[in-house]
Amino acid sequence: MTSKTTSKPKRLVVAIDGPSGAGKSTISKILAARLHFTYIDTGAMYRCVALEAKKQHIAVDDEAALARLCREIDIRFQWEGKTNRVFCNGEEVTEEIRTPEMDMLSSAVSAVPAVREALVAMQRRMGEKGPVILEGRDAGTVIFPQAEVKVYLDASPQVRGRRRFLEQQQRGLSGSLEQVIEEIRKRDLNDSSRAHSPLAQAADAHHLDTTGMDIPEVVEAITELIREKAGNGD
Ligand code: C5P
Repeated sequence: MTSKTTSKPKRLVVAIDGPSGAGKSTISKILAARLHFTYIDTGAMYRCVALEAKKQHIAVDDEAALARLCREIDIRFQWEGKTNRVFCNGEEVTEEIRTPEMDMLSSAVSAVPAVREALVAMQRRMGEKGPVILEGRDAGTVIFPQAEVKVYLDASPQVRGRRRFLEQQQRGLSGSLEQVIEEIRKRDLNDSSRAHSPLAQAADAHHLDTTGMDIPEVVEAITELIREKAGNGD
């Protein structure tokens, strides 16, 4: 560990990508709070589109209707304590977007090109003021390919499934560990095999396998990468 402190740079973009359950949200929230960076949960935005599509009875294959929905949708984040509250069209949806149904529906709508184009444009606007931490699947490959720090967080499907399972239990949701692991595998396949912006590691991303790591170790490793960049005056 270095003794250098991290000053708050004007335009530092930290992109944290990886599959479901790799720990992106937990780690990104801690880092953003610690470093006073803006935090953008890009997955929550796909979840908002999924929820709104369900409410408006729009089918996943109706690209024109999804494109209209994305033109009209208003997504906002509000940081409160340790919670990133999510608002969609003026209504709080923080919990509603986190059900197993929205896990699968968000993965489906995220494969629709018109949805990706609209959300990537929104994410760039939200992130351009910096310093910012974006977490998702394409933060370092598509949204901000010029991001100063890129991390690809990964872990085995079993470990990721167990983390998601414990999270769901805490929120009072039912389902077995086997079911959760199976859904993680399905989402991995959806996310990495879609034609448009599939989940992939950027060539210049730091690969961090968190299988045997605890949260403070991962936070420390990424803080170190950010310090190096901030220290370099980039
Ligand atoms: O990260 P989270 O699980 O909340 O994301 C929900 C879904 O949104 C993912 O399964 C993925 O299909 C999609 N997603 C995406 N691109 C992103 C973030 C999320 O395609 N940048």
